[in-house]
Amino acid sequence: MECVFCEIARGRAPAHVVYEGERVLAILDKYPVSEGHTLVIPREHYRDIFELPEELLAEMMRVAKLVALAQRRALGARGVRLLMNNGREAGQEVMHAHMHVIPRGVAELARRPLRPEEGERVASALRAALGL
Ligand SMILES: [Zn+2]
Repeated sequence: MECVFCEIARGRAPAHVVYEGERVLAILDKYPVSEGHTLVIPREHYRDIFELPEELLAEMMRVAKLVALAQRRALGARGVRLLMNNGREAGQEVMHAHMHVIPRGVAELARRPLRPEEGERVASALRAALGL
């Protein structure tokens, strides 16, 4: 069974990339709760927090902070919610560990599908705020 986040990490599936590191990526959520809703994912496949090595989880948190700062700078977010669902019982939908970084005080999108032009605009604004 293929994993969509592994496919994205290998460049075999499209995504609006916000940040690219050696071990961690940040991409826009395809069904955003709010404008700029970003997912921080490890490049390597780990299912959830129970499998993730601690230093990789720490790297994900470091990147989540960079993304939060970029959301504040580029989108005017007034607050940022960090959320990680671990296990189906907790609402995890893609079984490749990921941290949600959800800006608040920006446009609410209620998980409607992200439009390509909107994704490109938001991702490039966040990349610019990250200095990428
Ligand atoms: Zn995966």
